[in-house]
Amino acid sequence: TSYKDYKLSKEIQNALDILGYREPTEVQARAIPLVLDKKDVVVKSQTGSGKTAAYAIPLCDMIDWLENKPQALVLTPTRELAVQVKEDFINIGRFKRIKATAVYGRQPISIQKTELKQKSHVVVGTPGRLLDHMERGSIALEKIEYLVIDEADEMLNMGFIDQVKAIIERLPKERVTMLFSATMPEEIKELALRYMREPEDIEI
Ligand code: AMP
Repeated sequence: TSYKDYKLSKEIQNALDILGYREPTEVQARAIPLVLDKKDVVVKSQTGSGKTAAYAIPLCDMIDWLENKPQALVLTPTRELAVQVKEDFINIGRFKRIKATAVYGRQPISIQKTELKQKSHVVVGTPGRLLDHMERGSIALEKIEYLVIDEADEMLNMGFIDQVKAIIERLPKERVTMLFSATMPEEIKELALRYMREPEDIEI
């Protein structure tokens, strides 16, 4: 397969060329067409497989630039991953001028509140801080169409699962949900069963 098969907009294709992504990795080849088709996916794969781009490529392609409120929300277990994912969205969405914001603990909430007042197509964050922003009303949720739960098993290990559920409960029901996890413990399978619509299973 080739990225050309996905009929991505030329802004996204150009960004992939510059990033040196010549052909899709296996997880991308399996996930991108489904996400572009607005199907929910549960992906079992390791870090290093190109999983971030497996969701960032189709989401950057589908995001409506003109909408000022966030359209995609990405949950990550750590601050480091949140920052990395934000950078990946900015790189893949560079020619479309996609705006991404990362929110995480141990940084003053006021700085993030100011950032969230600016146009943000994508918000990436750790569960505790995201929930905090949601409770303060500093993130508009009504236009969220895409939810990514990244490294779901890590979020479970770190004790964030109830916060993840509380976040999902606040989101619009009409949305596409993507879950990525290296392992599939029972609690993660239940999460998928409860909050996803007939997800396609992808195992790498
Ligand atoms: P990830 O699994 O998302 O942490 O990605 C692992 C690394 O693979 C990152 O440094 C990406 O920039 C890189 N990567 C993702 N997709 C491709 C691709 N199609 N070709 C080459 N490198 C890629």
